[in-house]
Amino acid sequence: MAEIALDKLLYRLLCGTPGEFRFSPGPVPSGEVIFPDPVSVYVHIPFCHSLCPFCPYTKMLYEAGLAAHYSHALEVEARRVLADLDGKKISSVYFGGGTPLTLLDSVESVLALMSGHLTSGAEVAVEVHPHDINPAAVERLALAGVNMVSLGVESLDNAVLAGIGRNHSAEDALSALHTLMDCGRFSINVDLMTGILGQSRESAVSDMLMLMKSGVDQVSTYPLMDFAFTRMKTRLSLLEQYRLLRDLASAAEHAGYLRTSVWTWTKPGSRKYSSITREDYVGIGAGAASHLGRCFWVNTFDVGAYVDAVDGAHPGDCARGTVVVGDRSACSMERPAIAGGEPNGFTERAAIVLNNLAGSDGIPAVAGDSLTVAEREAAVAEAADSERVSPVAVSILMDDRQSALYRLFWRCYEGEFDLDSREALAVPILRRLVRVAEALRLVARSSSTVRLTERGFFMYHLLERYYTRKYIGTLWRHCRESAFPREIVL
Ligand code: SF4
Repeated sequence: MAEIALDKLLYRLLCGTPGEFRFSPGPVPSGEVIFPDPVSVYVHIPFCHSLCPFCPYTKMLYEAGLAAHYSHALEVEARRVLADLDGKKISSVYFGGGTPLTLLDSVESVLALMSGHLTSGAEVAVEVHPHDINPAAVERLALAGVNMVSLGVESLDNAVLAGIGRNHSAEDALSALHTLMDCGRFSINVDLMTGILGQSRESAVSDMLMLMKSGVDQVSTYPLMDFAFTRMKTRLSLLEQYRLLRDLASAAEHAGYLRTSVWTWTKPGSRKYSSITREDYVGIGAGAASHLGRCFWVNTFDVGAYVDAVDGAHPGDCARGTVVVGDRSACSMERPAIAGGEPNGFTERAAIVLNNLAGSDGIPAVAGDSLTVAEREAAVAEAADSERVSPVAVSILMDDRQSALYRLFWRCYEGEFDLDSREALAVPILRRLVRVAEALRLVARSSSTVRLTERGFFMYHLLERYYTRKYIGTLWRHCRESAFPREIVL
């Protein structure tokens, strides 16, 4: 209750009005989507060879049949994005997951499609698992144009790794790191986790320092996040979290690394590696988010529904046209495709369209075991069955103030923002809040640049944990529960 009140108060303070983030089913109107030039692209590959109990991301166990269809759908969606870009360039491509190298062929084919659209010096980044790395795979990545990799090490203590359900050892992770470094073609980030069961503060710091000693370009020390739908929760008190972050920051500084976000330290002169703080990006794949201008949307988290929405060639899909039956004034049909069985009577893609339209236009939702649609809706579904269907689950068109807050939030994640920037100027009360934060020694100012202090980073750490649970966690929970949710209000 207190959290809700604080949340609303903060929103009102910053935006000047009571408000909320309201997500609608389906995509934003296409006229609202403006691609900047250049733009960033995120590609999601949801397959893993084993599932970690702490992981909140869109992922599933690798399954060869579905993976093959998914690869094809990714290419279809990538071609559509390139067509929508209409000649605009791409300055970064980031493959995340899941475990992207479960579909190394797909990484190569998507990059081949995009290669002629990249800016000179574009960042091409891939998340990798220690088991994926061997000299042949590394060579293929380099040949495909990958120049940044992020290796999931998580811990260098085998007991801790076993405790969090990772399927590799510290030795596997170090061997993968050396193979990547020996190649000499990548800027390398390693991910460590903190606040996990069995890990002491000293061992977290010592893991980070050992990796820095190897000369790696960047170390990210992500705290375990609490999501309602993941089994593992952090056990650290606020004081323990404070001490951990303070010790990591001080050790990283002594090792000569620069703080480039609340949890990230980068070697001077190295390229900073980040997947989540890009200004504008378009997402491809199941569960991928996109943020362009004031528009934000997420693709369906359901891998099968994604394939069906993007690429109707999924086996088991019915022939088009079967949705229109009877006297064309109304039709009733079963919906086993939605329930996960073999399609019968109409295609899953047609049902997706009806679901997207449901509620917004008086069209009945797909619910229960049967569905009745009137002639016009049947025609819509029939047309959709042969044409482009959106994989977008929900979207929001933010107002200017919300959009500015979103951007400021991620600027603060990186540790500084400019008071004269467009997003800062859109929040009139910000200058007064910065003065209060300065008095509390949460930030330090130099001209118009506002930089978080050690204390400010800890406050941001708490804020980020809160917003991840409250906003991202709630949005993701709805998207996990339904392939195409109805309205979501945060
Ligand atoms: S942490 Fe990585 S390997 Fe583990 S389930 Fe999540 S995406 Fe898969």
